[in-house]
Amino acid sequence: MNPTDHWLNFINGEWLDARRVIDVDDPATGKVFATVACADDKTVDRAVQAARACADSGVLSDCRPVERTALLRRIADEIRAIADKAAPLLARENGKALDDAREEFLMAAKYFEYYAGMADKIEGRSIPLGKDYVDYTVYEPVGVSAQIVPWNFPVDICARSLAPALAAGNAVVVKSPEISPLAMTWLATACQRAGLPKGAFNLICGYGHEVGAALVAHAGIDQIVFTGSVPTGQAILRSAAERAIPSVMELGGKSAAVVFADADMEQLLSSVKWGIFFNAGQVCSAMSRLLVQREIYDQVVDAVSELAQRQQLGAGLDNAELTPLVSRRQQQQVLSMCDQAVSEGARRVTGGKAPEREGYFVEATVFADVTPEMSLFCDEVFGPVIAITPFDTEEEAWALANGTEFGLVAGVFTHDLTRTLRATRALKAGQVFVNEWYAGGIETPFGGIKLSGFGREKGQEALYSYVNTKNIAIRVS
Ligand code: NAD
Repeated sequence: MNPTDHWLNFINGEWLDARRVIDVDDPATGKVFATVACADDKTVDRAVQAARACADSGVLSDCRPVERTALLRRIADEIRAIADKAAPLLARENGKALDDAREEFLMAAKYFEYYAGMADKIEGRSIPLGKDYVDYTVYEPVGVSAQIVPWNFPVDICARSLAPALAAGNAVVVKSPEISPLAMTWLATACQRAGLPKGAFNLICGYGHEVGAALVAHAGIDQIVFTGSVPTGQAILRSAAERAIPSVMELGGKSAAVVFADADMEQLLSSVKWGIFFNAGQVCSAMSRLLVQREIYDQVVDAVSELAQRQQLGAGLDNAELTPLVSRRQQQQVLSMCDQAVSEGARRVTGGKAPEREGYFVEATVFADVTPEMSLFCDEVFGPVIAITPFDTEEEAWALANGTEFGLVAGVFTHDLTRTLRATRALKAGQVFVNEWYAGGIETPFGGIKLSGFGREKGQEALYSYVNTKNIAIRVS
């Protein structure tokens, strides 16, 4: 390794090393290729103090909002300028396809551009109270936002919360995931080049149970934004409860697509490919369950199995269709969930094994005849594994779709308009896709209900997680 393979923390506008390091490996080979400085409690304190000083100075909150708009646009431009250079690092540390890594940086730029457009439109209301009063509301930034990011889309998810927080005038401390932390540092570089004030964005890396836990328990933070697993979210909520601070929780999912006999097969298969094999299925809103009307059940099982067998497996840097999982631990977990599915009686149609090659690969996997009692029906796998279940009636389909503890996304494939409208009411989830999995974008609010969490990211809704409403009531006579 040469010195450029060691990456630093970014606090108060400076790059800082640490005594300890975390190794970062390449999921396509399993070999360590870089290290990152591992923060400790003191680093957390320093980062929060820097953010606090920035928030209290008013440098972002007191300026003309249009200046924040211009600043966020410059950050978007800087991210676009580094996308080609930074994407191979993200592909290498994460295992994802190079084109997808580049797209992730471009998405990050779009978040800054989108919220740049909102920074000067955070407008309060005037509330009529009769002639003796003037009453109005203002939105004030929450102050210091602590944000914990997972490894599956580190650059995208970091930008998703950072951009609206800055647009609203906050200062931010982000803890990057200990797996796949490197490419995110390019976001700090982009912010630095765009002239973001010191302390407005601080980026630290460390282990969740140490540095993540210290950050969310720190007395200097005003809000927590967490994206990750349910148990970690619950632990973080206990910290938030101690200080009664607000939080946004973007947790896991076990989302179902409901397929009726009149579905367009081409549309469905392109959604399945994207929905479960993109990013090797390591997507919180993955299409991990397929509920299929019985008259087309065998046909769909065969077509999805053929699609799975066609997925060309290889390294992200080679832009393969099915890339490795992020870590050996993740690979082992997915394989053990496949073994358990077999032992519980699910029919393994294809896949379910690790191919004979180095790296953390798992074959594209299809299980059929999965029933609600099976763990594969209820538990998040976070890998390229789809569970297929037949249904007869519409009511049965909604019950199966809603029959887990999660409620992140749901989908329906049909061309019957009135049935579609019934589906949009019956499906219990934060968003419903019709005839295209992942339909939507930065403009559309995203988040869950039930164990998938609460609060919304993306869209105009997200901005209001980063402000407090203040009402001003003035007696004028
Ligand atoms: P994870 O919960 O293990 O880790 C997420 C982050 O939390 C990491 O940065 C980790 O270091 C940190 N962390 C761990 N313990 C902590 C603690 N006690 N205090 C503070 N921080 C702590 O999740 P993961 O394995 O990185 O990500 C996979 C999970 O994330 C899946 O369940 C997936 O569904 C979910 N996810 C949800 C969304 C969404 O938007 N809803 C998006 C991506 C991933």
